[in-house]
Amino acid sequence: MNISIVIPLLNEAESLQELHDWIAKVMQSNRYLYEIIFIDDGSTDTSWQVIEKLSQKNEAVKGIRFQRNFGKSQALDAGFAMAKGVVVITMDADLQDNPEEIPELYDLIIKEDFDLISGWKKKRYDNVITKNIPSKLFNAAARKTSGLKLHDFNCGLKAYKNEVIKAVKVSGEMHRYIPVLAKNEGYTKIGEKVVQHQARKYGETKFGIDRFVNGFLDLITISFLSKFGKRPMHFFGLWGTFMFLFGTFSALYIGIIKLYKVYNGIKTILVTDNPWFYIALTSMILGTLLFLAGFIGELIIKTKNNEKHYVIREKLNF
Ligand code: UDP
Ligand code: MG
Repeated sequence: MNISIVIPLLNEAESLQELHDWIAKVMQSNRYLYEIIFIDDGSTDTSWQVIEKLSQKNEAVKGIRFQRNFGKSQALDAGFAMAKGVVVITMDADLQDNPEEIPELYDLIIKEDFDLISGWKKKRYDNVITKNIPSKLFNAAARKTSGLKLHDFNCGLKAYKNEVIKAVKVSGEMHRYIPVLAKNEGYTKIGEKVVQHQARKYGETKFGIDRFVNGFLDLITISFLSKFGKRPMHFFGLWGTFMFLFGTFSALYIGIIKLYKVYNGIKTILVTDNPWFYIALTSMILGTLLFLAGFIGELIIKTKNNEKHYVIREKLNF
């Protein structure tokens, strides 16, 4: 099979038929062997019924239905697990991404041997205040932390070599950072392609302004995880030890000065009146806590297995 198209969706019933017909047209005119994997992420409208109907008419249509809304990242992860195509394309279900882009993305992966091509909505048709401006800041921060020179991390339209999506595990809300996850697994031939973007035709956006708060927090997590995720002791243990020693030496210093003055009959203040006493105390406590955090982190890594993080209710055509 040439192409798997993975489409996560939440309440997009109005778009699905149109999206399917458009993709099918592009696939047929390029003679691709393909599958479309719709992942219904707990829709409460008739999305699943539409997918069932599509799958009866076109055997390339496959469906995964979640038990409830688990999030776009989980939906992508479930789709990735099933994708059989040599090239895997992800796109949104809301007709904002243009299926006509697929052949060029496919060629970049196959002929130019890219591991991953990320779409870039150079000209966007979204709200300027709530999306376009925050997204510029967000992308600048993501570029700085990740070292990847992409303009549009959050673009739903991306293309991957199959082995790349099998190597990454997309959890939480990490769908924004799949290129970073891929890079962390050693897939570094990552490119970018300017893609057409349309205004949302039906329904409304499923992500509010809180996406940017979550996005920034995830950015911190991801840059930390890529460095110390497998060895927390090297971070927490280092700083914990450092702070503990700093506290201990401060306490010793206070004690020695105090004893010295007492023995020599020099007038001196109470140890507890000395500000250093409190600094030493806090340092020792924080140092111990940091060290413990590192230790517990190591224990968690040693014991955790790759548990599933979503529940599938039914599948179609697999
Ligand atoms: N989506 C999803 N699960 C969610 C939220 C969104 O599968 O919990 C899907 C949604 O149906 C769409 C894609 O993710 O196909 C992108 O969502 P949306 O268009 O709302 O995001 P935006 O374009 O505003 O960034
Ligand atoms: Mg959208």
